[in-house]
Amino acid sequence: MHLVRRLLLVLIVLALGSAAAAWVLAGREAGPAIEIKSPATTIGQKSSMELFVDAPGGTLTRLTATLTQGDQTMPVFALDDTAGSAGDVKQASSDRLWVIRPIGKATQPALTGGKATLTVTAARPVLFGWREAATTVTKEFTVRLEPPRVAVVSTHHYVNLGGAEFVVLRATPPDVAAGVTVGAVSFPAYPGSAVGLTDPALRVAFFALPFDADASTPITVFARDEGGNEAVAALERQAFTKVFQRSRIPIDDAFLGKVVPAILANTPELSVSAAAPVDAFLTVNRDLRQKNNAAIAALAAKTAPEMRWTESFVQLGNTQVESRFADHRTYLYQGKEIDQQTHLGFDLASTAQAPVTASNTGVVVHAAYLGIYGNCVVIDHGLGVQSLYAHLSSIDVKDGDTVRRGQTIGRSGTTGLAGGDHLHFTMLVGGVQVNPVEWWDGHWMEDRVFRKVREAGGAAPTAAK
Ligand SMILES: [Zn+2]
Repeated sequence: MHLVRRLLLVLIVLALGSAAAAWVLAGREAGPAIEIKSPATTIGQKSSMELFVDAPGGTLTRLTATLTQGDQTMPVFALDDTAGSAGDVKQASSDRLWVIRPIGKATQPALTGGKATLTVTAARPVLFGWREAATTVTKEFTVRLEPPRVAVVSTHHYVNLGGAEFVVLRATPPDVAAGVTVGAVSFPAYPGSAVGLTDPALRVAFFALPFDADASTPITVFARDEGGNEAVAALERQAFTKVFQRSRIPIDDAFLGKVVPAILANTPELSVSAAAPVDAFLTVNRDLRQKNNAAIAALAAKTAPEMRWTESFVQLGNTQVESRFADHRTYLYQGKEIDQQTHLGFDLASTAQAPVTASNTGVVVHAAYLGIYGNCVVIDHGLGVQSLYAHLSSIDVKDGDTVRRGQTIGRSGTTGLAGGDHLHFTMLVGGVQVNPVEWWDGHWMEDRVFRKVREAGGAAPTAAK
């Protein structure tokens, strides 16, 4: 063979070989990463499918999602360049697509109860678009089309504005979430085993009627499954309005000079100049108060699914009540109104640095400085019920400590927004501050809580007076 022709042939073979190698290698490239974010386990009447798909530049050649039951295949989603379904696909970041799409009986009418498989396939272009690299992910789901059931079991519900109430309810099937809704606020229910109820359908919940709500605020119980199926029932109750006190609090330079700089020094994240003390006070009294109350409300997430107390709560002994729950305060400086706030607790005063005791058995979930509350302890008693102790001069407990009813947890003081030495005390239900008077009352604890537990078949104690 001619040398030139032979060389040409070698070149052609080499070119074909590398093209073939590139083709094969491109076929081995990883396809897009697919994450099925929701549903988690269950598809219902109206659920939501949420996917994350990762590919360079977010460029895909294909993206499909289908549901399969037996030999029935139901389309859920298909990426179609011409359809422009932009509402369903968003660019979450430069390389990440976010797909949200309804899934369930409402959109896939052929769906029946039982098992179903979701199959998601995504492909991205490789080798200059000559080939694609694909990934397929499948996930098994339970299809549940029957709505859950919920009913109120306990009787005689009385709730005061700014107060709390307890309910026993029946929610099925056993794995549904349940609770109480008061206006726009939801309070979770806990398994009845928390109070010794053996029927797995029984749940217990504390809820609050916030001091600033309307006494006619709708109150319902709910059960909600993971597929988005929900049942709601009215809670029969009587609600009572309360007239709260109003007071006028004169603020002078001596008070500002004593209180504000200390709070600012302990709250470095608050950018306020102490040079204008009245402005600094207003920032503390408004913004910091709101921030501190949000931090306190968030502690509800640390509650235990058990009732940690067997008696009513104890009011700190030998103290004088200086201020009550939901006292509406008007603040005056040099005779002029400068602010209005609501005092969500009791102020209890005795001697300076008096021992402060735990109002009931529980576990400490906060023991640190907290803005207007100064040195502050929050104890979790379970089922969303917590107690708060503020303005302490010293703290004797730490996060995670178990404390007994009556155990000393610190000493009273003037830290935070406090004029004189006192304990600021309040109760919380699901993060909502409620009137402690109810919790200190043995009759209330018996009628509102323990009676309902016994009537549902539990072995609650009779409240000690
Ligand atoms: Zn107070």
